[in-house]
Amino acid sequence: MPLSPVPPDGTAFDAIVIGSGIGGLVTATQLAAKGASVLVLERYLIPGGSAGYFEREGYRFDVGASMIFGFGNQGTTNLLTRALAAVGMEIETIPDPVQIHYHLPGGLDLKVHREYEKFLQELIAKFPHEAKGIRQFYDECWAVFNCLNAMELLSLEEPRYLTRVFFQHPFACLGLVKYLPQNVGDIARRCISDPDLLRFIDMECYCWSVVPADLTPMINAGMVFSDRHYGGINYPRGGVGQIAQKLAEGLEKAGGKILYKSRVTEILMENGRAVGVRLASGKTYRARRVISNATRWDTFEKLLPAAVLPKSEQKWQQRYRKSPSFFSLHLGVRADVLPPDTECHHILLEDWSRIEAARGTIFVSIPTLLDPSLAPDGYHIIHTFTPDWVDHWQRLSPSEYEAQKEDVAAALCDRLEAIFPGLAAGLDFQEAGTPRTHRRFLGRVDGSYGPIPRRKLLGLLGMPFNRTAIPGLYCVGDSTFPGQGLNAVAFSGFACAHRVAADLGLRG
Ligand SMILES: Cc1cc2nc3c(=O)[nH]c(=O)nc-3n(C[C@H](O)[C@H](O)[C@H](O)COP(=O)(O)OP(=O)(O)OC[C@H]3O[C@@H](n4cnc5c(N)ncnc54)[C@H](O)[C@@H]3O)c2cc1C
Repeated sequence: MPLSPVPPDGTAFDAIVIGSGIGGLVTATQLAAKGASVLVLERYLIPGGSAGYFEREGYRFDVGASMIFGFGNQGTTNLLTRALAAVGMEIETIPDPVQIHYHLPGGLDLKVHREYEKFLQELIAKFPHEAKGIRQFYDECWAVFNCLNAMELLSLEEPRYLTRVFFQHPFACLGLVKYLPQNVGDIARRCISDPDLLRFIDMECYCWSVVPADLTPMINAGMVFSDRHYGGINYPRGGVGQIAQKLAEGLEKAGGKILYKSRVTEILMENGRAVGVRLASGKTYRARRVISNATRWDTFEKLLPAAVLPKSEQKWQQRYRKSPSFFSLHLGVRADVLPPDTECHHILLEDWSRIEAARGTIFVSIPTLLDPSLAPDGYHIIHTFTPDWVDHWQRLSPSEYEAQKEDVAAALCDRLEAIFPGLAAGLDFQEAGTPRTHRRFLGRVDGSYGPIPRRKLLGLLGMPFNRTAIPGLYCVGDSTFPGQGLNAVAFSGFACAHRVAADLGLRG
């Protein structure tokens, strides 16, 4: 593996990456592996962003993500496995036999098994009159996935790659071109007519895209609804934080550099071109290319002068808005609270009309069912969260803020008693995070989970790639193609590094 020397003081790095989320780290490690000199600047104390972790009283909690795609060992969509391998790293993972256990209105209780046929049979048993449509819909998702999984996933902004991949896999490319402008809702309605089943498809989308099927691009759904049965959901031993830790370690092994407690406050411009960054400490670093892993809103509205908001960004903001943030509850509970055969991930909703409402849908992860080392013996972690808006948490006095936190936490625990009777009595530890907490610790505008369409768009066509209107400046992460989720931002990282390497004239 080529080692990229850090340049002597005063000269420019090949690339500076602002932020060490998974998108930023995949870009940085890919570039370092190609021989570029790379500096990652992270405002927080550890890497990972929304895929970070924190420790309290013997528990190790994932900050956000814990249903992890991209750790398969075959095909091309196992991007986390591949990103780690590129810098000589690997992580032991634990396969999850069930992606989600749904607890939905009208007693619709079902599990998405890793085994595709088992999942289909369980769903068909609930909607026997839709047997044909169910198979047709999910098989169409496989058609999308098979196209993606046939080719190396790199930058769609790089013409030589596009030409090569088209000649190598013409049918897969044409398949993707067909699905790129489509959303799930239209395809679901072509296959299925039962309104309750269509609501279930809405929830299948909402629980990772935070929008219903009509607004969810088919490309993303093809990935999620198929890869859960192909590469599967696999939990990294030691917690999700391991992914970023190992990528950061691999980056340094490959000659790159990462600095923590280094908040970028400004992207430096010369003659209309991004040439470096300034930190809150006043220190400046120069680079031939600057890559922002902060959200697009943070990048263009906080790190660049207001006058610089390019037309393309204004247009993007007319198409996409910020999704809600979350209210998160990190619980330590006695093991006997969990009924036998409890699964790791749950979705709970009692009333379909509240699927998108603030504090409507509840998400639950219990990673200690897969890796007991994350909690003291005899205890489990329950991380539960529900969409919420930062506006609900503004303009409160400190005591009002604390009281509201307690009320919302108690209401959440109350609702969870439906699936975990005795939860309140079995609590050993509790810490709540609000949208303000997400904003503060994850450095994300309003604590948002990421961009969502303002209205029905043409699938993923409107989602920007990595280059921006500002020469020398690139974006990576969930506000670029193809959107939120660890494997998706890893895709964005591969694509960004590929485009930047081509622009720097690097091969590899
Ligand atoms: C509660 C929750 C649950 C989730 N569950 C899942 C799940 O189960 N599965 C899944 O795949 N995904 C899940 N996600 C989504 C997933 O975590 C994100 O989509 C993904 O981690 C985003 O990665 P990113 O690289 O785009 O950015 P981020 O993770 O936001 O990282 C950006 C980094 O940049 C740093 N930064 C920002 N501004 C600056 C600055 N000015 N200077 C220096 N550093 C800066 C931040 O500190 C941060 O470390 C979840 C997210 C949340 C919040």
